[in-house]
Amino acid sequence: MSEQLSFVSPTANSPWGTYLSQVDRVVPYLGPLARWVETLKRPKRALIVDVPIEMDDGTIAHFEGYRVQHNMSRGPGKGGVRFHPDVTLEEVMALSAWMTIKTAAVNLPYGGAKGGIRVDPKKLSLQELEKVTRRYTSEIGIIIGPHTDIPAPDVNTNAQIMAWMMDTYSMNVGGTATGVVTGKPLHLGGSLGRVKATGRGVFVTGREAARRLGMDLRGARIAVQGFGNVGSVAAELFAEAGAKIVAVQDHTGTIVNSNGLDLAKLVPISRTDGVIGFKAGGDIVPNEDFWNTPCDILIPAALEGQLTAERAQKTTAKLVLEGANGPTVPQADDILAERGVLVVPDVICNAGGVTVSYFEWVQDFSSFFWDEDEINVRLDRIMMNALNHIWDTADKHKITLRTATYAVACERILMARQERGLYP
Ligand code: NAD
Repeated sequence: MSEQLSFVSPTANSPWGTYLSQVDRVVPYLGPLARWVETLKRPKRALIVDVPIEMDDGTIAHFEGYRVQHNMSRGPGKGGVRFHPDVTLEEVMALSAWMTIKTAAVNLPYGGAKGGIRVDPKKLSLQELEKVTRRYTSEIGIIIGPHTDIPAPDVNTNAQIMAWMMDTYSMNVGGTATGVVTGKPLHLGGSLGRVKATGRGVFVTGREAARRLGMDLRGARIAVQGFGNVGSVAAELFAEAGAKIVAVQDHTGTIVNSNGLDLAKLVPISRTDGVIGFKAGGDIVPNEDFWNTPCDILIPAALEGQLTAERAQKTTAKLVLEGANGPTVPQADDILAERGVLVVPDVICNAGGVTVSYFEWVQDFSSFFWDEDEINVRLDRIMMNALNHIWDTADKHKITLRTATYAVACERILMARQERGLYP
């Protein structure tokens, strides 16, 4: 039936196809709720917008923008905005669907949404970037709001962009609506702990998974792909716990050092020159070699579709922590399971960001702000409770952590759907 509607038919090897096959795998565990499963295979709403701006040289440029609200059965839509030249509607659909699963897996009172603009922000001046952000926000303003859909940062978007989004929305509605976006600067209703929250969640779930596997983090060798907000923070926390970061890859290349890279030097250099700027601290190797670097833990924290079947065969890791959204293709998932490699799936592993976004939103509504210790304690507790519940479900049904996460999340979403009933 779904083949008749082009916007839900996946193209080959697409993230949306990956998501659909992940949902199919969970159907046997849904019992009578399985009759509602088609709900999860269709976004509730998808908006495509034109974003025209006047460039600094006086020409007019047009960019294509999207906001997809995948599911809002359990609460308002929640999900980041990505600025990237390769963003497509289909990719944003998948990312919005993973947000639905993620918010339900961690039991936050949200649905799932995502947005994006097909633009390379590195090619824009600061003024052009602000114009793109403001026009996009204005165009999607008809469907976002503090009680309907709350954007946040994702790849290539940050606190400044959230501040412009909050201001634009506020100007359009007349007032100051801090709760319309999360990931804002601190003095504009942002939350302490938000910047490091996703990397911290990767660390918390990874530490627990390692403990259950009997793997000592002291001396454990870790390879990290993607050294931005998620990858670099996770790497720092693992290094603090005694692990060695033996390989790092970003868009500039790959650097390895079997004795462990010096993160105090690598992190600041990577922000300006990329990881290959730290030539003095390790060996620069071809990108494909990243995947067979001897390691105990692999953290894909860049973009989706990176861990392919071929790379899953090569890796020596015993534990994969999905910092990125959708980094592992379904065939690779099967290979890793056969090889006894444990995968902590994205929808739980990187849920620390949306959890602290939830704290930010709650603090904005109450206009009462918590200290960082309180935030980190609450974050750790929510992540650990979610992971333990999922682990028990996986043990009970003898299924992977990913299928268990989907089973827990889909049951919550479809139960809400059933209890609300169909309108009209
Ligand atoms: P970021 O923009 O801060 O960093 C992205 C990193 O990936 C950069 O180091 C970049 O160089 C690298 N990269 C890009 N293309 C690459 C390629 N082809 N090969 C290797 N490296 C490449 O983004 P981020 O916020 O760290 O997000 C990374 C991933 O984590 C994304 O999948 C995002 O959706 C996901 N995620 C982010 C958050 C968050 O709070 N930031 C929350 C949940 C999930």
